[in-house]
Amino acid sequence: MARSSSTDDCFDRDRRALMEEIAAEARYSASYTGLGAFDPRVMAAMETVPRHEFVPPGERDCAWINRPLSIGHGQTISQPFIVALMSTLLQPRPEDAVLEVGTGCGYQAAILAGLVARVYTIELVAELAADAAARLKRLGYDNVEVRAGDGAKGWPEHGPFDGIIVTAGAPEIPPALVEQLKPGGRLVIPVNVAMGQELVVVTRLENGGIESRPVLPVAFVPLRGG
Ligand code: SAH
Repeated sequence: MARSSSTDDCFDRDRRALMEEIAAEARYSASYTGLGAFDPRVMAAMETVPRHEFVPPGERDCAWINRPLSIGHGQTISQPFIVALMSTLLQPRPEDAVLEVGTGCGYQAAILAGLVARVYTIELVAELAADAAARLKRLGYDNVEVRAGDGAKGWPEHGPFDGIIVTAGAPEIPPALVEQLKPGGRLVIPVNVAMGQELVVVTRLENGGIESRPVLPVAFVPLRGG
């Protein structure tokens, strides 16, 4: 598993401030999310994964600030609060296999790597996928598999999944992703609505039915392709 390097020390104060901010924002947003606090395992992962390793060199000083940052190709690394929220809504268990759509720089995948057994992640932009795969390997996240392609189709060879997380805003919920959920599995996805985007949790019920719960207004880059 990845380990902090000595250069992490200069981020300690920012890191502690960020963790407090995420916990406070979790409390403020409780009436929307139904969660007063985020999963302690998720919070521990947020504190441990070296976020500054996932942003471009020019953005390193801002890496531990609670906002999204540019990663090139017109794409972003998501805001830490949103990463913590979505990871909590996924309800990750140590034995789970999860799929992520929208690898970007690989940060969300690295958070999940410490929480579940296997992470499969798909990125549309081939160069981002290659960079993320190299970065995750260099940092020691050896339970993550990265693939370039259209994630809206899922990754049937590795499904069905205990959880699926989509980190780009979808025009609608892709049917292939719902099909690749195990009974009891959760799909966490930003979906376009009339006034913007809404984060939605879709649960595949044991009887085969689907339950869908809107959580919070969000702003993600668009899910493209297919
Ligand atoms: N998960 C990232 C955030 C990435 S931003 C993080 O940890 O910070 C969303 C990413 O989704 C972008 O890199 C974009 O290129 C990618 N994307 C957009 N449409 C996609 C699709 N159909 N399949 C896979 N990736 C897609």
